[in-house]
Amino acid sequence: MKIELVGSSIGAGATRQNLTSYIINDCVAIDAGSLGLVVPLARQLAIQHVLLSHSHIDHVATLPIFLDNVFSPDRECPKVYASSNVWDCLARDVFNDRLWADLSGIALEEGQFYTPIELQSESTFKIAGLSITPVSVNHSVPTLGFLVEDDRVAILIASDTGPTERIWELARQQLFYSKLRAIFLECSYSNSYEWLAIKTAHLCPRLFAAEFAKIPLNLSILPIAVHLKGWLYETIEAELALLSLPGICFGDVVKTWDL
Ligand SMILES: [Zn+2]
Ligand SMILES: [Zn+2]
Repeated sequence: MKIELVGSSIGAGATRQNLTSYIINDCVAIDAGSLGLVVPLARQLAIQHVLLSHSHIDHVATLPIFLDNVFSPDRECPKVYASSNVWDCLARDVFNDRLWADLSGIALEEGQFYTPIELQSESTFKIAGLSITPVSVNHSVPTLGFLVEDDRVAILIASDTGPTERIWELARQQLFYSKLRAIFLECSYSNSYEWLAIKTAHLCPRLFAAEFAKIPLNLSILPIAVHLKGWLYETIEAELALLSLPGICFGDVVKTWDL
């Protein structure tokens, strides 16, 4: 399984992921924070499925741009997967003929920009050789993390979350756990802003470590810290490095993992 973190910062040496998007096996995207910025355009055209974890702007910002970039009446449109809460938000706040065109309305006359699919927590589905289970996590708006597996390996993308339980419970189940190779967990704030992490349902290094205590770690599981706030980046990085998590790496740098 190939997992890529899409970059979203501009300029020489820019490696931070200020907006969130993952691309798996070149054809499945999780979140569309920076998906519409990927070059060359052929890479966007290769994306057949876009899964949205929640409605926050750093996760959906370039969805309209992406859909516009890949639209053609002559080709199959991408499938977009989201919970009913996210669809409701996108209809009212994004595709509302003010911020962006109501693509579903246009679709009736001109061809489809996307096929909408509703995600349900803990309802597993299969796309592009992957088995994907969305799981509700604990964030300030309804949010899904994702358990993703193929025949050989599994990964956990927790998405934006504060302290949470159910996704760990499912990840500890033997069939999934035996294939688990990487955990992408957010760490938005530094320890001195734990109060803000709790208020906004995010994590700081202390809470990040407490989440990892909910699953037995071994050397074949890579802990990957993502979603570090730019204004606290160096502090969070230093505090995470002090945790006794072997192999911890930082996903805010543009990286690809071949697992
Ligand atoms: Zn969020
Ligand atoms: Zn976020």
